[in-house]
Amino acid sequence: MTPKESATLDRPERDVGGYTAPTASGPPPAGEVTYDDAAAAPMNNDADQPGGLGCGPGGRALPVVEASQIDIAATQGDGVGCHAGADAMRAAAREAGKSEVLDRYAADYPRGAHDQPQSMCPAFGSLRVGLRMRRTATILSGSACCVYGLTFTSHFYGARRTVGYVPFNSETLVTGKLFEDIRDAVHQVADPAQYDAVVVTNLCVPTASGVPLQILPKEINGVRIIGIDVPGFGVPTHAEAKDVLAGAMLRYARLEAEQGPVLAPRGGRAQKPTVTLVGEMFPADPVGIGMLLDGLGLAAGPVVPTREWRELYAALDCVGAAAIHPFYTASFREFEAAGRPIVGSAPVGHDGTEGWLERIGQMAGVSRAQIDATKNRVLPAIRGALAAKPIRGRITLSGYEGSELLVARLLVESGADVRYVGTACPRTPYSEADREWLAARGVHVQYRASLEQDVAAMDEWKPDLAIGTTPVVQKAKERAIPGLYFTNLISARPLMGPAGAGSLAMVINTAIENRRRFDEMKAFFGDTGSGHAAGVWEDTPVDRPEFREHYKRHLAKLARQRKAEEMV
Ligand code: SF4
Repeated sequence: MTPKESATLDRPERDVGGYTAPTASGPPPAGEVTYDDAAAAPMNNDADQPGGLGCGPGGRALPVVEASQIDIAATQGDGVGCHAGADAMRAAAREAGKSEVLDRYAADYPRGAHDQPQSMCPAFGSLRVGLRMRRTATILSGSACCVYGLTFTSHFYGARRTVGYVPFNSETLVTGKLFEDIRDAVHQVADPAQYDAVVVTNLCVPTASGVPLQILPKEINGVRIIGIDVPGFGVPTHAEAKDVLAGAMLRYARLEAEQGPVLAPRGGRAQKPTVTLVGEMFPADPVGIGMLLDGLGLAAGPVVPTREWRELYAALDCVGAAAIHPFYTASFREFEAAGRPIVGSAPVGHDGTEGWLERIGQMAGVSRAQIDATKNRVLPAIRGALAAKPIRGRITLSGYEGSELLVARLLVESGADVRYVGTACPRTPYSEADREWLAARGVHVQYRASLEQDVAAMDEWKPDLAIGTTPVVQKAKERAIPGLYFTNLISARPLMGPAGAGSLAMVINTAIENRRRFDEMKAFFGDTGSGHAAGVWEDTPVDRPEFREHYKRHLAKLARQRKAEEMV
């Protein structure tokens, strides 16, 4: 039975807040409603919740969500979620007991020029991490439209995995029954024959309403239960949402490892000390990095986010972590808690590889001679590859993957005239070496860049090529500037070590050469189809500036109204 089915079954009425959990020792008291026996399963975290489910004689009920804890007001009407009303949602979430998690997110993922996601729903990041893991079930709790969008996108990207959904309405939200539905769904899904872990995600509305995933059982029959809040008003980008789940899983695995023996990696423990690689990257990159590390007497460990639960233990069992993507703040916290040092930047281009080998070697206590020998073997090959495939032209670059600074370094070393790098991710200590290197070469680095900043940079520098997000590329093409999508065309290539050097040249040079075609098209079409004439017309389009004025006034009035309502 799917979570959705489980959550929509007809069930007897119950008193609000009157649910009492069954105990393992006997039948439930009269008048109690139970759904199945799964709720009697003993939990590993019974100690955390004295008297919680399965705790035996003398136990008290699992903490019940009081109706008063749920603040539904902020979830009503217009202004729900990512398109408006983030402040109201944030205030509601705080009132409903989510202050701790929001404070942690605010510290881990500081906001920037804009306080709303300007790309896809952030929860897509954590959803994708869960869907890529073996033996991991995924359950979403959120508005149907959000879940539709998220499942659509995940299947568009080839997830081919079931996404569980626990729907809600105003009543189940306000009475706390949504939490019980989620708990029932988790009990039904948590089959140890199929799963190592079940990930439950609160989207915007359940987070704002305070649905308390933190009091879900931590484990059911050996299946770990991971509950996370990933609201658009608390997690700025989908990149950082990956860290929310990766960090939660690492924390769980670290605590397990501290309690006793855990599963070894599928292929057995590595013979050499390993370096864990943090950040999703092109599949060939970990192999290339492994070859670099081999010279230092080290090996590449798992890539975080991992593809399997047992890899989490191996990831923590490292000599140190390489922050290939610098925004995994919660994950880095777990490595630090495990006593593992972290090295920033990545082996990109000549200088990047040189610096990275040096820092990794020092971190792992590799001898001076061995570090130098590795550099002497690798660096000439990288220099040769860069020289063999030069890039000529001015480029502005922006994206939300977290690897933007690394790509910019590679472009600069290939000969490109890079003027601007915008990243939706925040500034952290682990991209500092890249920022300094780029700044020293006159490249402006904009953290937490907004779409407006990316477009302004393009307008200022008039590049031969704009690499960016979908709206940036769209605006570049409108201006007859060749554009390439960062996510699909740039970050989906090897970047590291000798294989990465020169890997971008062909696609970039081809795009720059297309400038001539853009100019020809622009000369042919002129202003046709732009401005007021955009779209499909049967008659000659007529400009109606008075309509625009009217609509502008209408929007201003709505904004004033909303402001006044917020002040009441
Ligand atoms: S869950 Fe995602 S899509 Fe839904 S309102 Fe929040 S940010 Fe928007």
